[in-house]
Amino acid sequence: MNTGDTLLIIYNLLLSSFGKQNWWPAETKVEMIVGAVLTQNTSWSNVEKAIRNLRAGDLLSIEGLSNMPLNVLSDYIKPAGYFNLKARRLKNLIDFVNDRYAGNLDELFSLDITAIREGLLSVNGIGRETADSIVLYGAELPLFVIDTYTYRILTRHGLVDENIDYSELQAIFMDNLPHEAELFKEFHALIVKAGKEFCKKKPLCIECPLRILDKEIS
Ligand code: SF4
Repeated sequence: MNTGDTLLIIYNLLLSSFGKQNWWPAETKVEMIVGAVLTQNTSWSNVEKAIRNLRAGDLLSIEGLSNMPLNVLSDYIKPAGYFNLKARRLKNLIDFVNDRYAGNLDELFSLDITAIREGLLSVNGIGRETADSIVLYGAELPLFVIDTYTYRILTRHGLVDENIDYSELQAIFMDNLPHEAELFKEFHALIVKAGKEFCKKKPLCIECPLRILDKEIS
């Protein structure tokens, strides 16, 4: 069986068990990029509390975030944890959008995948997973997002080597799946759900939809 077929079997097993996840859970593009920074090293429920604070203050806009002093932003996003660091990172990202694109996110998102990604990676505090999430869920362009769960699931099933790095793992998806943003969005969201619910540090294989994967691809 080729790699593309194996990946689609994983996708279909997860989709039929969990249903569509309809990520990213954001009302606007600005909210999406804010969530992408805030979700680093914390649970989504904590991110939601921070976003609710910003929304209540009518601050979920490039202008609102630009005008907010750093210490005030830190206070608003406190529930998301590492709030001083994340406030700095958010400010860096907002400065980047202001300086390069006159505060217009649509202008950034009108570029091609490589240009958006490279721009985002030039921002201090924006790593590959965050940049790729913004490309996929913000710009809605087909770039597969890799996270800990992607690595864990594929290595535990012996589909990739344990020494594989982010770019190599990303290439497995990019080289073997059709480049469709909707597929990539849903697939990544399903992997995160499987990881959170079953493929934890101590895996709960008995209840996991991927427990039959090895048999399906043998
Ligand atoms: S929990 Fe078990 S069956 Fe599920 S993805 Fe992880 S290793 Fe596979």
